[in-house]
Amino acid sequence: MTTKSVFVRSSAKWLLLFTVLVAAPLVLALVGHQEENRGFWIEFGVGLGFVGLAMLGLQFVITGRHSKIGAPFGFDELLQYHAQAGYFGWGFIMAHFIVLFLADSQFLEFLDPRVELPRALALSGAIVAATVLIATTRWREKFGIIYEWWRALHGVLSLFVVFVGTVHILQVSHYVSEPWQKAVWVTLSAAAIGMLVHSRVWRPCKMKKRPWKVVSVTKEVDTVWSIELEPVSHSGMQFKAGQFVWITLGDTPFRLQQHPFTVSSAPGDKKIRLTIKELGDFTSEIENLETGTTAFVEGPYGNFTIDTSIKTNNVFINGGIGITPAISILQDLRKKKDERKITVIYGTPSLELTPFYDELKELTGKLSLKVVHVLEEAPDDWDGETGFITEEIMKRHLPDDISNCEFFVCGPEPMMDVAESTLRKWGVPVYRIHSERFNIV
Ligand SMILES: Cc1cc2nc3c(=O)[nH]c(=O)nc-3n(C[C@H](O)[C@H](O)[C@H](O)COP(=O)(O)OP(=O)(O)OC[C@H]3O[C@@H](n4cnc5c(N)ncnc54)[C@H](O)[C@@H]3O)c2cc1C
Repeated sequence: MTTKSVFVRSSAKWLLLFTVLVAAPLVLALVGHQEENRGFWIEFGVGLGFVGLAMLGLQFVITGRHSKIGAPFGFDELLQYHAQAGYFGWGFIMAHFIVLFLADSQFLEFLDPRVELPRALALSGAIVAATVLIATTRWREKFGIIYEWWRALHGVLSLFVVFVGTVHILQVSHYVSEPWQKAVWVTLSAAAIGMLVHSRVWRPCKMKKRPWKVVSVTKEVDTVWSIELEPVSHSGMQFKAGQFVWITLGDTPFRLQQHPFTVSSAPGDKKIRLTIKELGDFTSEIENLETGTTAFVEGPYGNFTIDTSIKTNNVFINGGIGITPAISILQDLRKKKDERKITVIYGTPSLELTPFYDELKELTGKLSLKVVHVLEEAPDDWDGETGFITEEIMKRHLPDDISNCEFFVCGPEPMMDVAESTLRKWGVPVYRIHSERFNIV
């Protein structure tokens, strides 16, 4: 089977499954339902609520970091889907309330504390929680919320909304009158919440039994550091070149501070290397990290690998720290004495701020590799490319037959946008453009 048909078939399978799961509550509600019809708008409003809750519940599954779920999609594609589905889920829930109140003002009693205080508090709380969930995701930076606190808040609010939603469905009981229907709802909600518990409790418990330690901290260039981690009394981790891990530093894996980094070394060694650019509170402390510090590693994750590439030419278009997956892949190819042709177009601010300059030079001699450095600010005697990576630069250096190329794009957002849109404009199909975005919200 070609990469195209594999991609199309497995993507279609997952999209279909997600859609069936979201629509399932409607089917479930209608099975054996005999009560009188209350008019189109009321039934429509109720349906919106079912679908909205199913969409929000499904998000626990999608974000639960299960490598097999949504496997054909990259990590950032799944997160983008998660974000969009979250907005839609919120929209459905809001529309549920609005349509019902407009269809029959008696439904306002659900929010009236004089009629039933706990119910009114829980439902109003869920509406506010769902709205805060969306607003803090959309405008986290504007609100000045630290990423880790946002992530914790996101988990707690989502749990609250799904829990209240399920209790609400069971209490109203109009479409869930049979005990088996109640049991299905409770099981589905418990499964969704179980996914969260699995990733935030069970997985750290497992990681605690497999600690790592920092064995070296090396400056690559200004503001970029490589750290090496070694497994403590266990065999380490199997991964594919180009994949990433989540790391926690310190004595416990239960910290809020858990960050994703691509492994920049090749698979096969017990030690792994991560190369980290200073950005915020966590990454700016890497230079002060002491050797011997305990670390916990969760992963590997991601499918930004050349394993599925059947093309003769593989082209990497990278910017800044987005070079890390390419370095791991190139080191892996060197180990395997793999002769396939590789082109790397690498944009950095200057020669001094180009991580892995020497490593790339050395690899050029050992692989069928062409590296094109693109420097924003170049020294006077520089005869290479300057400025940002543009369509013209790509045109100058890409192999002539781009239909025989597989593309791997990773770097700052604007660079990725230029690279992806240029490739699409040239007719490269999406399944031959692999992207990894490091900025996930
Ligand atoms: C798949 C993937 C692979 C990555 N690989 C590398 C790499 O090889 N080298 C490298 O230097 N950086 C990599 N990053 C980016 C790195 O994770 C962030 O730069 C780092 O987490 C920033 O943390 P901070 O607290 O120092 O910065 P902050 O200023 O707190 O955050 C800056 C941005 O980083 C992201 N971020 C912050 N905290 C987290 C977190 N806990 N989890 C996820 N994202 C977060 C958010 O988008 C945030 O807006 C990768 C990111 C992803 C998603």
